[in-house]
Amino acid sequence: MHKNDAIYVAGHNGLVGSAIVRRLKGEGFQNIVTCTRQACDLTNQASVNTWFDKQTIDYVFLAAAKVGGIHANDTYRAEFIYDNLAIQTNVIHAAYQHKAKGLLFLGSSCIYPRDCPQPMREEHLLTAPLEPTNEPYAIAKIAGLKMIEAYNAQYNTQYVSLMPTNLYGINDNFDLNTSHVIPALIRKIHRARSTGSPSVQVWGTGKPQREFLLVDDLAEACVFCMQHQHKYDLINVGSGEEVTIAKLAEIIAKVVGYQGKIEFDPTMPDGTPRKLLDTSRIRSLGWRPKTSLFQGISATYAWYLDHLDEKVA
Ligand code: GDP
Repeated sequence: MHKNDAIYVAGHNGLVGSAIVRRLKGEGFQNIVTCTRQACDLTNQASVNTWFDKQTIDYVFLAAAKVGGIHANDTYRAEFIYDNLAIQTNVIHAAYQHKAKGLLFLGSSCIYPRDCPQPMREEHLLTAPLEPTNEPYAIAKIAGLKMIEAYNAQYNTQYVSLMPTNLYGINDNFDLNTSHVIPALIRKIHRARSTGSPSVQVWGTGKPQREFLLVDDLAEACVFCMQHQHKYDLINVGSGEEVTIAKLAEIIAKVVGYQGKIEFDPTMPDGTPRKLLDTSRIRSLGWRPKTSLFQGISATYAWYLDHLDEKVA
């Protein structure tokens, strides 16, 4: 990528897209193209094609998606499969038709089987059944990465899919019904501290293990993979470190300064027991994560405090 190439970031207001925009700007890229939902509805093929017709786009970071935590994925199953299939199909095909030189598609580690050997390698894709709570989302993402693979094979494109582990960071969604675990626990534990509540409820048993990556580290990996020559259609991105949900709650309580009791609510789903990614592929290309979980959560909490007015504590 050259500094004045036209780089379209789809989903620029989201957690991942906004981090990619920050990263690109920080690296001196000057021609970053974004578009609002009003100007282009990514779930509508005609709207996407009309929008692409009006621009020259050299590179595409496809970070637009319908995303959410375990409860949202399990509840809005139809929206998760429809919106994601539509967005990715429309954008990948339009980018191809408009001769984009590069495209990076973002997926998720939930594409791998529920009882996958750990750490999960790219080769484990489609070797066993998926975790039921997020199967519609995972099926859509698998369709997207297979589309990338098929376009590379038939059309000789050099697109790539990145599969990040569970992400968190600034611009995250802090809505308790739809968020992922880190923003949810930051909000719940902050509120418990502010109101002097003696305990906080954490969903599930606290026993599942998760790997977390700060979204700024992911954004660096995205820009890195778009710029480096490699032979892969699919690349995992993770931090390589796992924690139980119980331990995560303790870390967040420490960052927030909360000394009350952490209680578990086993009536809420645990989801998949573990999902640690094998990241040897991206490490062999020369990229590795920079931020520890404690540092990342501290930075995210600082941002949350600065934006409390917008988040209804
Ligand atoms: P997942 O990785 O797709 O399961 O996504 P989540 O980030 O939503 O959930 C990760 C784990 O954290 C699951 O085992 C949840 O049950 C657990 N968890 C505990 N408390 C919460 C909470 O308040 N919100 C969410 N979303 N998950 C929670």
